[in-house]
Amino acid sequence: MKLFFSAAQLSHRPQQYFRFGRIGPALENPNRMEALAEALAGLGLERAEPSDHGRAPILAVHDSAYVQFLETIWEMWRQLPDAGPEALPNIHPYRGAGSDLVRHDRARNTGPIGLIGHHVGDMSCAIGPGTWSAAYASAQTALSGAAALLAGERRALALCRPPGHHCYRDRANGFCFLNNAAIAAEALRTRFARVAILDFDTHHGDGTQAIFYARGDILVASCHTDPADYYPFFAGFADERGHGAGEGANLNIPLSPGADNAAYLAAIEGLSDAVRRFGADALIVSAGWDAHKDDPLSKLAVTSDAFPRIGEVIARLALPTLIVQEGGYSLAAIADAAPSFTRAFLAHHR
Ligand SMILES: [Zn+2]
Repeated sequence: MKLFFSAAQLSHRPQQYFRFGRIGPALENPNRMEALAEALAGLGLERAEPSDHGRAPILAVHDSAYVQFLETIWEMWRQLPDAGPEALPNIHPYRGAGSDLVRHDRARNTGPIGLIGHHVGDMSCAIGPGTWSAAYASAQTALSGAAALLAGERRALALCRPPGHHCYRDRANGFCFLNNAAIAAEALRTRFARVAILDFDTHHGDGTQAIFYARGDILVASCHTDPADYYPFFAGFADERGHGAGEGANLNIPLSPGADNAAYLAAIEGLSDAVRRFGADALIVSAGWDAHKDDPLSKLAVTSDAFPRIGEVIARLALPTLIVQEGGYSLAAIADAAPSFTRAFLAHHR
């Protein structure tokens, strides 16, 4: 199995993370990737440099004004009088019922403060000088993994950073700037008629869900901590099942805080059954290690033992599979979970 990783992804170096009313050090930082790359080195995977597939596959998922915003906001920001060290929003325009009275169309003509309020959903997406190049490289890493499957390989691992599954078509959220898994899924559709995304990160992949919510050709199946009182709070509930042509092609299995390995694995079996019923021709795994009890964001009681079993369940689907890196913030937990998952996946995948 090829492991795609680009050092350009390390150029996003956020300094700040806002949580519980406090600014602290950024949790989603380059150290995560260094720990992951080192932990996976022992598996003997073939390291491959991602190739540049250009912007077209990114624009197949993301709004062009949003991509332009990501590319230009830092230059605009640093020219502000008294600009802070990173670009962060201080306005969050209303998008709910009655939001037709909020002039979102004005965002195209506004300055950096309005633009970042329009395009960045929360305070965990600090943008600095290297953010766009890292996000672009992360999407290319996922696309290179997809290209390997399109060329006939059975499996590939895309070590993406920054992660992607909270990113919407036109909005960054939750450490995510481009939705790598969604971009890869759309690329896989050029050969595979039905693509499934199985997401076992401890957070619901709200961006991925929204992007494909009305699509019947891409299944989004996720298990995650119950969003009733957990990020992303406003999506990820069991009654969200897709709409229109996508009715039934979205599955959420929320887990109660404190859920253990047995509950987590039962949920992943449920996702795996759904992928089988859907008749997927190819699989993308949104792999996050933050369900681990030692993760600073985890509310679950999941231990290291769960991850090789997840690798086996997913391998038994026997589909062309692209593993896309999402979350995981304890360096010790990811250094344990990622290689044990991958080793078990490789041992059972045909
Ligand atoms: Zn997560």
